[in-house]
Order: sequence, then structure tokens, then C-alpha cells
Amino acid sequence: MADWTPDIERLQSYDDEEWMRVEREYCGRLMAYVGRRIDDAQAREDVVQEVFLGAVRGIASFDAIYTFEQYLFGICRNRTIDHLRRRSARGVGAAQESNESLPGLDDLMNEEETPSGVVSERDLASQGQALLVEVLREWVQETWQLGEFTRLMVIEALFHGGWRNRDTWKRFGLKDETAVAGIKFRALKRLRLLAERRDPTGALLPSLAEATGDGVTHLELGVMQAWKSGRVSCPARYWVARLIAGNLPDEPMQFVRFHLDEMKCEFCLANHEDLARGEAAGEDPFLDRMQASTVEFLRSQIARPEQGGE
Ligand SMILES: [Zn+2]
Repeated sequence: MADWTPDIERLQSYDDEEWMRVEREYCGRLMAYVGRRIDDAQAREDVVQEVFLGAVRGIASFDAIYTFEQYLFGICRNRTIDHLRRRSARGVGAAQESNESLPGLDDLMNEEETPSGVVSERDLASQGQALLVEVLREWVQETWQLGEFTRLMVIEALFHGGWRNRDTWKRFGLKDETAVAGIKFRALKRLRLLAERRDPTGALLPSLAEATGDGVTHLELGVMQAWKSGRVSCPARYWVARLIAGNLPDEPMQFVRFHLDEMKCEFCLANHEDLARGEAAGEDPFLDRMQASTVEFLRSQIARPEQGGE
């Protein structure tokens, strides 16, 4: 049971049907994401609509290192920041009425600036970074398949949460700090091995190569950034659905809960909220309106002379 993902080539040829399906499938989770930051209902709809139009505009240069959902969420995050900035620049209105509104922007800005801004931060997708993301994903997948969920959570706590060893061992009922250090040491060793397999020259990953010496802290910075920006540990949407349905086995459930509740992954939380709300989105009048204008926009893209891109 895999999550539906669109056919990128069809999207790149501005196929109406595929884009309509994209909007139906992804509208709910984007709304949930935006709803956590923006109070005003009209503004939320505007932002989500801008996200889809932005997705159409950018699809020609879609970077396959990211999933389509990451691509959309990256645009969504940027549009949300733009909106909150504009609103705070105006200095009046909603932001003034409730002081709770502005910290939303601060939170967003305080999280490392680059990562999820997949679209505007294209240099993030440099070869080395892309390789690192792939390697981390591979490590997460194999660790998941081995059923080593404590190991996975420990590394997630360190690389995603930035936890210290001394805060981590207690949470997972380990013997002491050195147990955490041991898990980290073995994980890094495995990561280097996986990286070497993909790039035997080591040229793409200078930071990993250095780490065989004492460059460990340098390594960790890059790894932490790739871990977050690549969303390497985000469970697929159907795992979140199974969590809600209550039919996840205990250990994966603990990981998914940890990712949501303690790592507070904003993208998975948006998925969770969307899924928990159920299937009511089908008759959403907003979706209908949006689809009508998206179709119009798609037609205008096709009508342009075929020059290949912008
Ligand atoms: Zn996540």
C-alpha cells in the first residue's frame, strides 16, 4: 500500500488531469500546514492556491532528489513565510489583534533557514548534499527494516532534534551516555560505508571522509542539515494513517509518535491533521474554485510557444 505520487512527466507537460489529482490529494495536508500558521481563512486559501500555481511554474526544474510532497511543502513553507512577512510589515490587522500570530513567523525563521525551502534554495541540491540525503535515507530504511527502532529514535533525536547524549540515554532507557555515543559511532561508520559505495572516490563527501579523523563535529553539522532538509526520517503518509487507525505494530508506532510528538515534524503533523479530519475534502467548494483557475493557468502555460522552459 503505497501513497499516491504523481507522474512528474505528465505534470511537466501540464496535464490537466494529473494536476487536478495533485490538488485533490495534497490540498488537505497543505491546508493543515498553513492552518497552523495563518488564522485568516481567506489568506489560507490564497496561500494554498499560490502554492499550486508555484508548483506548476517550477515543475520543469523539479529535482528528483526530493519527493513531490517535499517539493510542495517547500513551496508552501516559503509562501507562508512571505505571507507572514507581508502581514507583519503592514503592522496592522490580525497580527496586532493577537500577539500569538507573529511568533508563528519567528518559529519558521528560527528553524534553519535553508532546508525545507526546496525551491528557492536550489544550491542546497548540490551533488554532495544530494548524496548525503540519499545515504541517510538508505540508513533510515535499512534500520527500519531491521526493526532497530530504538537505534533509529536515538539517531533521530541527535540529528533531527539536536539532543545531547546526556539527555538522550534516559529517554530511551539506555544504560548511560556512552551507550548513546556507541550508537552514534556505529551509525556514522555505517553511513561512511554506504557513502563509499555510492561514491568510491569520496570526492562528493569531503565532510564524511574527514570524519574518519577528528572532524566529527564538522560532519555532524552537514548530516543534521541533510537529515532535516531531506526529511529522511519522515514516515510515509500511510504509516501516519495506520497510526490514526490504531493498527501500527508497537515499535514503528513508537517511532512515528516520537517523530510527531517530540521532534514535532511540521510536515508530518500537517499530514496527521489532514488524515485525522477524514475524507470530507471531496466536496470542498474551495477546491472546486481553485481547480477551475488552475486549469486556466495550465492552458495558458501550454499556449505559450514551445521554447522549452521560461
Ligand atoms: Zn516528518
